[in-house]
Amino acid sequence: MRSYQEMTKEELLQEKEQLEAEYKKYQLRGLKLDMSRGKPSKEQLDISMGMMDVLNSHVDLTCEDGTDCRNYGVLDGIQEAKVLIGDMIECNPENIIIYGNSSLNIMYDTVARSMTHGVMGSTPWCKLDKVKFLCPVPGYDRHFAITEHFGIEMINVPMLSTGPDMDIVEKLVAEDDAIKGIWCVPKYSNPQGITYSDETVRRFARLKPAAKDFRIYWDNAYGVHHLYDIDQDHLIEILSECKRAGNPDMVYKFCSTSKISFPGSGVAAIAASANNLEDIKKQLKVQTIGYDKVNQLRHVRFFKDIHGMTEHMKKHAEILRPKFEMILNLFDTELAGRGVGDWFKPKGGYFICYETLEGCAKEVVSKAKKAGVVMTPAGAPFPYGKDPKDSVIRIAPSYPSLEDLELAANIFVVCVKLVSIEKLLAE
Ligand code: PMP
Repeated sequence: MRSYQEMTKEELLQEKEQLEAEYKKYQLRGLKLDMSRGKPSKEQLDISMGMMDVLNSHVDLTCEDGTDCRNYGVLDGIQEAKVLIGDMIECNPENIIIYGNSSLNIMYDTVARSMTHGVMGSTPWCKLDKVKFLCPVPGYDRHFAITEHFGIEMINVPMLSTGPDMDIVEKLVAEDDAIKGIWCVPKYSNPQGITYSDETVRRFARLKPAAKDFRIYWDNAYGVHHLYDIDQDHLIEILSECKRAGNPDMVYKFCSTSKISFPGSGVAAIAASANNLEDIKKQLKVQTIGYDKVNQLRHVRFFKDIHGMTEHMKKHAEILRPKFEMILNLFDTELAGRGVGDWFKPKGGYFICYETLEGCAKEVVSKAKKAGVVMTPAGAPFPYGKDPKDSVIRIAPSYPSLEDLELAANIFVVCVKLVSIEKLLAE
């Protein structure tokens, strides 16, 4: 396919005219389509409805160790839930605290605690002149919202196809003791769907931060969210790797079942070294007498074990895969070779990330909106909502039906082509 850059001005104008006619037709249909947030579809939620059947008024709510789940107690989660989550994130149950329903809430708490009380005896961050976080970009907007909320300065680190640029990460954390953390989505990252390479993980585990209270915020939100049965990405387990490298306390690993069972009604957890867990529990025991053990038990009785969860994830994949493939195939046929941007082909997770020509993302999102397609705002995957190149657009294929998504993706393609031509004609 000839790229737009190779076309003459006349050819571009002709193409533009055709696209504008197509765009108008879509506009006249008064569509309302949404590709903005990574929510599971109703069909996906339906596959977890069995969770509602495993507990009823006749069921014994006693744990394996005799704990009555209906009552107070068990601060850090019931043992069988720790085993299930431990298998899910490849960590020892002893290294896990089960919280409530949201991993984002744990991350917020973790930053908040470090602000007010410090990390394992170090100076509380609120007493320091400056606290900084490294933010691999593009990344997850809600991570950046937490650090912005606490007035933590965010420093962009470019994402490569292997994960964050480790040359930059190593240099910055070694030089500056105000850098206290880095946000990571190491598997099927939000929004690019990138999985950190073995070398990247090994280099993470061997960081030599100037700040002894520096922590890697390892948000393993998409650890088991594969699209394919065999062709899956593999991620080195970070806790063991940090331990091997002599840095056992350097990482907090977060996860939840939000996109496995029900978002907002799942089970969330943190995994960390014994020292970190002890530090965390000092706060936790003031914060709560214990989280929702009935929900923890419900999850264990529904999934039974990690094999049950793996089978369950295959059902999610069956629903998600055609949506991802439809969009990626459309991009291949309509956009590849046109010189109008790039995209990754994720093997899991919840997003496809499209990179337009520089300076076009906002305009594409706005054009799509005027034709009835809501996208994540351009800039959202960057700290302070500022994409320096104005080129990243996050596409969330999960929520709409395949039919709606196909329409939305076609409109998106027309918008990308139109905005790119307008840019090229203006140059
Ligand atoms: N981390 C990442 C990377 C996510 O994409 C999401 C959901 N969009 C979350 C965390 C939210 O997790 P939870 O529902 O457990 O709060």
